[in-house]
Amino acid sequence: MTVTCVRCARSFAPSEVDIVGTGYRCQSCSVAAQLAAAHGVADVGDNLDLATRQSLATRARWQIAGGLLGTAALFAPAVLATLTMGLGGWTAVLALIAFYAMTLTLGQLGDGLDKWRRYGHVPALPTATVRLLRAKSS
Ligand SMILES: [Zn+2]
Repeated sequence: MTVTCVRCARSFAPSEVDIVGTGYRCQSCSVAAQLAAAHGVADVGDNLDLATRQSLATRARWQIAGGLLGTAALFAPAVLATLTMGLGGWTAVLALIAFYAMTLTLGQLGDGLDKWRRYGHVPALPTATVRLLRAKSS
């Protein structure tokens, strides 16, 4: 019995592979994934199927939109109130609360961007593996 690597699609004995979310991954592909992870590229493509990654990317886009909308909705009134009424009394308190809340909405925006980058742009095969297969076949 052999199993197929989810990255390079070659066949291996079950004792020579790692188990990942979408199936089996051979040792050389696992080492490549670990090297990529050390350089900040997560191996989500091996562990999450395309539909899951697409739904996570969609959710991240909504999070980005919410972060942008929330920041804009807080920033405009805070700045307008400060400009029209000056920084005194309740205006200063409300502006401080709005600017504090903006750190949360900006955090949501940044987190959404990070997730969208991670899940939205994962190729089916890593570039290094594709190059290795081309070099061997020609
Ligand atoms: Zn492999």
